[in-house]
Amino acid sequence: MTTQIELAGVNKHYGAFHALKNINLSIAKGTFVALVGPSGCGKSTLLRSLAGLESISEGDLKIAGELMNNVPPRKRDVAMVFQSYALYPHMTVEQNLTYSLRIRGVAKAEAKKAAEEVAATTGLSHLLKRYPRELSGGQRQRVAMSRAIIRHPKAFLFDEPLSNLDAALRVHMRKEIRALHDRLHATSVYVTHDQIEAMTMADHVVVMREGVIEQQGRPLDLYDTPANKFVAGFIGSPAMNFIPAIVGEDGTSLTLDLGPLKHKLTISSKLLPGRRITAGIRPEHIGITGQGQGTFDVPVAVVESTGSSTFITAATGPELTIVETGRGNARAGDTIGVIVDPEKLHLFDETSGVRI
Ligand code: ATP
Repeated sequence: MTTQIELAGVNKHYGAFHALKNINLSIAKGTFVALVGPSGCGKSTLLRSLAGLESISEGDLKIAGELMNNVPPRKRDVAMVFQSYALYPHMTVEQNLTYSLRIRGVAKAEAKKAAEEVAATTGLSHLLKRYPRELSGGQRQRVAMSRAIIRHPKAFLFDEPLSNLDAALRVHMRKEIRALHDRLHATSVYVTHDQIEAMTMADHVVVMREGVIEQQGRPLDLYDTPANKFVAGFIGSPAMNFIPAIVGEDGTSLTLDLGPLKHKLTISSKLLPGRRITAGIRPEHIGITGQGQGTFDVPVAVVESTGSSTFITAATGPELTIVETGRGNARAGDTIGVIVDPEKLHLFDETSGVRI
């Protein structure tokens, strides 16, 4: 597959602050990539560097095989879509769409035709004469995307485009953006702090922290085999439970330290006896049963139900979150049995957090 965007050894300094640290990333043509991570991790800086809105301090940045390090934004042939839409308020939808073509010298009739074609793709045909203030948030978002599409860019760069929308519209728009990406055979880079958005929309997810790529790969690979404790805690909702544990004398047992409660489990790998590790278990991988019938018992502190699933917080040393499908019978104050399958545990080095 052709590589459309390539970053090799990219570093970015803002004065003394090291915002991007040795970024290596290769994006195949037609791929939808999500850059995800907590606030300040550098994802916007990375996206803005692709657009040419930030210059990189070191490394190579290529788009469609061409070195872009010193190419100004307007010559990179990429299109940014922002959460603030950045529409011109005094122009109609049609004028907003044709503007970028007109300033490039495209004839009026041709630009109008292009606007009509794009509007048909994005469901805006009936809104071409309206002004941005006469549109809903979702419609404005569609205009912003249409304005990017009309230029046939080499890549679409999305900077948290849905964060201004309400929850229901966000879910709708993420499907719409993904469908549009597929229809256009586009290459898209999408910045979000929302791991659900990243997981559901992208082919390839890049998890960042403090300027470093912690892990990148297919969404479910990150969920199944997180490379470290940070990725394990970041991907998945509710977040993975982490329990301090110590490897037994035999090297194949693990004592989980849940405060006053200690529980011994047999594991399939052989580890150094006495090694301190962190055991991770996802809330949806803990089963529930009656008191005395599970792997161990826990006291229930909080029960929250959304109707379709029930979230149980157990008052153990480090709290345990358990997700049960459906309503369940547990009540706050109960003692319940939990079932922990050792095969479902993720083991991490206690100090480095690296997956064992
Ligand atoms: P958010 O989700 O909050 O937008 P982000 O992951 O997109 O965060 P960036 O905007 O890329 O983060 O910023 C990365 C780091 O670089 C932050 O610590 C930020 O304070 C710093 N930074 C960004 N722009 C500048 C600048 N112009 N000068 C100095 N530091 C900056």
